[in-house]
Amino acid sequence: MDLPLNVLPAKTDGRFPGLAIGTSYAAGAGPAIQPKSPIDGAVTAEVGTASPDDVGKALEAAQQAFLKWRAVPAPRRGELVRRIGNLVRENIDDLAKLVTLEAGKIPAEAQGEIQEWVDVCDFAVGLSRQLYGLTIASERPEHELVENWRPLGPVGVISAFNFPAAVWAWNGMVGLVCGDPIVWKPSEQTPLISLACHEMVLRAAASMDDVPADVSSVVLGAADAGQALAEDPRAKLVSATGSIPMGRKVAQTVGARLGRCLLELGGNNGMIVTPSADMEMAVRAIVFSAVGTCGQRCTSLRRLIVHKNIANAMAERLKKTYATLPIGDPTKEGVLVGPLVGEAAYKQMRDSIAQAKDQGGELLCGGDRLESGAPEGGFYVEPAIVRMPAQTEVVLTETFAPLLYLLEYETFDEAIDLHNGVPQGLSSAIFTGDMREAMRFIGPAGSDCGLANVNVGTSGAEIGGAFGGEKETGGGRESGSDSWKQYMRRTTSTINHGAELPLAQGIVFGE
Ligand code: NAD
Repeated sequence: MDLPLNVLPAKTDGRFPGLAIGTSYAAGAGPAIQPKSPIDGAVTAEVGTASPDDVGKALEAAQQAFLKWRAVPAPRRGELVRRIGNLVRENIDDLAKLVTLEAGKIPAEAQGEIQEWVDVCDFAVGLSRQLYGLTIASERPEHELVENWRPLGPVGVISAFNFPAAVWAWNGMVGLVCGDPIVWKPSEQTPLISLACHEMVLRAAASMDDVPADVSSVVLGAADAGQALAEDPRAKLVSATGSIPMGRKVAQTVGARLGRCLLELGGNNGMIVTPSADMEMAVRAIVFSAVGTCGQRCTSLRRLIVHKNIANAMAERLKKTYATLPIGDPTKEGVLVGPLVGEAAYKQMRDSIAQAKDQGGELLCGGDRLESGAPEGGFYVEPAIVRMPAQTEVVLTETFAPLLYLLEYETFDEAIDLHNGVPQGLSSAIFTGDMREAMRFIGPAGSDCGLANVNVGTSGAEIGGAFGGEKETGGGRESGSDSWKQYMRRTTSTINHGAELPLAQGIVFGE
């Protein structure tokens, strides 16, 4: 695939920059990397990386930019995001191409990811005129009690390979309207799309005269660059998306300096299908949720909890549908299941299937690597379903691949217990025609996840809602609703406009 050079910064000495601080691009003092495309294992480009020192430089520049950016009125900050959104609309095909190349997504999903960026721009532009505070009744005469939201400071974003643009966009577009510069440490698998995202911000910023270009930086590199970002007190919020072990480390690092972090970590998403469910709809939702993006979405369906009276029929339906899935090169027309990100993911899938069998599971279909019909260097697998006798140890961990466990339940209480009996709590769904079951599922005694859907699959969230999960998923919320509050600091002010000085709680202190 030819690189869309028009959305990328120039190379120096045959290498793309590893450090971008506003308009200043540099190789970066870290070792060069050569990421491979999941499509065929070919090197996509040679790219520099930032050293931990470089991360410090980016944060210092962001801090200086913050001093100016926080004084720019929020609707004007929204204007920057509006212009970014327009540029993204114009360049959607080229940006999506980079997502396909580096993350292996089929074009429809890659375009969908960039569309999410456009959507969150629209959301953030509206938000830029709605960063509302509160007026609260004061207990004292001639006093006002008000709450205001103020810009927080530089935000460090650490992101995963599987949503290489959208996760940064959720944080970045909302953070920018809130008055925060963004320093981004993307996945080492997806450096090119990150540089292209940064380019869009720079081009929009250059069209305005009151935007410090250093509101956006990219520091490419591996875990040490992310670690440097987490350690630095200039990062007033560290928003980290990725695996649970990564989040645990970042939370401890940020916690040690009593900083603020927002964690979006792994899921182990379940769906309950009850006897009254519309089977057609349920099957479509299951297949999209379990095999879309080759099972590499944080919201991918991993546990299917089906009533025992319909479990056999469901297993047969799914086996038939899985047998017809078009798997292969994601750039080819009609393909729905692209590659795994690489060999380690394939090994993890094989290993989990072996463990599941040891723990009493029956492999219903899939699990093999494609021997023909797909580019040789890529890891193309047949999505797998394993029927489990119980929620054993292997089912409790996230395998980031198209591996679906099928479990049976008898009573609805049992279904909810199985559903909630894992350490993660990101996305969940129920398919039912019974209003009582649906309301129980989304109510206080139902799903314990951040996302609880009814007759909608676990993946494919809209940007308007707050996105995130509970338990080991980390508790963070991003994107829509009132997630913006995490990117700002709240000040509560008591204002006395009288000539007396009454104390709160009626305290009398001297004369
Ligand atoms: P990963 O944890 O390997 O890497 C994520 C990012 O963290 C990368 O940029 C990586 O360089 C960085 N990193 C790794 N160790 C670090 C450390 N010690 N300190 C600082 N940074 C560090 O994840 P991945 O393989 O890229 O992505 C898959 C995982 O991400 C899955 O578990 C998936 O569920 C999760 N994910 C969650 C969400 C969500 O919103 N909840 C979204 C996308 C992906």
